Amino acid sequence: MEHNPVDIVQERLRQLREEYSQWLVDELAALATDAEELAGGGDRDAVWLTIRDRLHKLAGGAGTFGFVDLGEACRALEIQLDEALATSSPSSLAEVRCGVMALPGFLEPARASIEPAKPVSALTVQTALTAPDATSAVYPRVYILEDDEALGRQLCQILASFHYAATLFVDGLALQRACRERCPDALILDLHFADDGGAEGLAIGEAIQHETTVQLPIFATEESQRFDVQLRAVRAGVVGFLARPLDPIRLAEMLEVHLRGHRAAPMRVLMVDDDASTLDYHRLVLETAGFAVTILDRPELTLEVMESFAPDVLVLDVRMPQCSGPELAQIVRYHSRWLQVPIVYLSASGDARAQLTAMTKAGDDFMVKPIAPEALVAAVTARARRARTLAMALSCDGLTGLLKHADIKEQLSAALAQARRRQQPLCVVMLDIDHFKRVNDTYGHLVGDEVIRALASLLDRRLRESDLIGRYGGEEFLLVLNDCEEPQAVRVVDELREAFARFSFLAEQQSFACTYSAGVLQANAEHDVEALIGKADQRLYLAKSEGRNRVVAG
Ligand code: GH3
Ligand code: MG
Ligand code: MG
Repeated sequence: MEHNPVDIVQERLRQLREEYSQWLVDELAALATDAEELAGGGDRDAVWLTIRDRLHKLAGGAGTFGFVDLGEACRALEIQLDEALATSSPSSLAEVRCGVMALPGFLEPARASIEPAKPVSALTVQTALTAPDATSAVYPRVYILEDDEALGRQLCQILASFHYAATLFVDGLALQRACRERCPDALILDLHFADDGGAEGLAIGEAIQHETTVQLPIFATEESQRFDVQLRAVRAGVVGFLARPLDPIRLAEMLEVHLRGHRAAPMRVLMVDDDASTLDYHRLVLETAGFAVTILDRPELTLEVMESFAPDVLVLDVRMPQCSGPELAQIVRYHSRWLQVPIVYLSASGDARAQLTAMTKAGDDFMVKPIAPEALVAAVTARARRARTLAMALSCDGLTGLLKHADIKEQLSAALAQARRRQQPLCVVMLDIDHFKRVNDTYGHLVGDEVIRALASLLDRRLRESDLIGRYGGEEFLLVLNDCEEPQAVRVVDELREAFARFSFLAEQQSFACTYSAGVLQANAEHDVEALIGKADQRLYLAKSEGRNRVVAG
């Protein structure tokens, strides 16, 4: 049986609510027991503090799970209790005690309003919540309609080296049939404009779009200046035009930019809160919206987890037993590496002064529990997106979008530490384009830039998400291949070398090719960052002196 993903998430939320309500029954019983204990002797202060912590937790969690009245009652009692404890007023304390004993009364009406379970198998829930990039090992499927068969073949070959599964069609009907059988990720259409502006290719594009449920990105390989044709192209889902003569590397770059959304690593959120059930709930909400979420109910582990998870956003509870959210935020800010990670507080305390204090210490945003799922997703998305854009702008090279010199070195240092902790192999590669000065001298600096960009796209497209790629110098790149032994690294870099050498660049009606040389080195226990880079560089220069266009390892 097929299930709509929205229904599945609703169902999972319902299950979480159900679990929470079971927990509530026990929790409220425990609170009542505490309140009864107050009648006897013993350490009353300690009991009051326990009650206070329990009320605080309920004030945050109950509303989140739909027990709004109960949550508000707990918040009111928490505030009342704080005042009563501060003034040591016996009558106020007695009032709070009555209030606490009356809390179970809020439970039944709210529990009755939770809808009954729908039959959804656990297996389906699991599948629907799996991140879409679980299938990223499969190459994106690109269909090309091009009646110039030689050009089409060349296009397919270039796209294959960028790891796209490209298929050539010379006839529109065959293409339409193929799309019906299996929908591609993108279409490249040769539009064949007739003099009257009618376009055979556009009609095929329209027909295919009509039959698919999702809008397919279409790239057109012929331009028209006519507004009506361009409008029709927009409506048919054409996302980019490429001028002729066709530059296949430019096309690969456009595809890359357009399909990158599918590949971009999900935004990472680390949530720290002492209430495990609220954490579970918020995790589900954010994961459903496509975030990668790590939850932590022990604030003392925050830095350690950040080191391995590198969150884009930190979401902190304000009041936790071990240390407060603002205190934790300050600890995080001691480390320059995390200065730019936005910190959002998600707190049960609706007290304006607490918010102000929290924000003046450290932090960027304050949200109050219970928070509507859409509001949580919106706030975290905005923060994460901005943080990523800023980090990218600061650390990425303008020409290639790769990491800059200092940043790749910093990330190499972190990767090396992680590899040692996990006892995994790590390889460093220094790579340099051969006789690049000649390219500049013969065809000009701009053409040289194109070559650098093409290599950068190739590396970016073909290496794994977990690998690091930096532009170390002008036409020199530094790669960090995680969890990879030297022979495997050599194989990868050599395959890329062959793919790059097959690229044909166009300038002044001439086509030319480029090659690169590389030095590969696997880190051992003694290497630090400088030693690794130095050794890899030595190997690169060995490759150059042995005749270039080769990969040298140990
Ligand atoms: P080798 O095979 O020994 O590496 O020879 P090469 O000519 O590639 O090496 P060399 O280091 O002598 O020259 C590199 C040239 O790259 C010099 C510099 O002008 C050029 N270059 C550096 N950065 C850029 C850039 O961003 N764009 C362009 N177009 N050229 C650049
Ligand atoms: Mg060079
Ligand atoms: Mg150089």
